[in-house]
Amino acid sequence: MTEICTVCGKPIEPNAKTASRNISFAICDSCVSQVSGASDCTALLEAIDAPVLLMQGNPRQVITANRKALALFEKNPQEVEDHRGGQVFDCIHSFTEAGCGKDVNCENCKIKNAIVDTFTSANPHNGVSSELSIKKANGTKTYALRVSTEKLGDLALVRVERYDADAQPGSQPDAAR
Ligand SMILES: [Zn+2]
Repeated sequence: MTEICTVCGKPIEPNAKTASRNISFAICDSCVSQVSGASDCTALLEAIDAPVLLMQGNPRQVITANRKALALFEKNPQEVEDHRGGQVFDCIHSFTEAGCGKDVNCENCKIKNAIVDTFTSANPHNGVSSELSIKKANGTKTYALRVSTEKLGDLALVRVERYDADAQPGSQPDAAR
């Protein structure tokens, strides 16, 4: 069965490149190759049927997010664009003096490490889960967070598969502590 690109509607020719794309698999090579910045990637991000952040590597921060991600994090675009991933998640360690990714508590952050590795090795990561302390207006709670990553040109996609406060401390053996 021929897949249709969810952005341009043209058939996707299956090849090694599309097979290795774990998030943008329903988008053709031509549409993916046009992504260079926030201006021309809205259609691509909205075509992905999940909350997605588009990140740049240096400095490592969010360029933009699709509507599903904004709804999930209850933020407007200005609160997401040019912010660190942890600030978008409201991770307590992103409010420290050192900041997201630089605080001593961030050293073993699986989410950060997966994103860093995707930028350096270009390898995708699937279903990386961790627990984060999330600071909301009504207090701090432990959230279960699960993401997948994919390199997209010089940028990276981060798909958020889980972000909820149902996590019980100790329920996730693989959680970073
Ligand atoms: Zn296309």
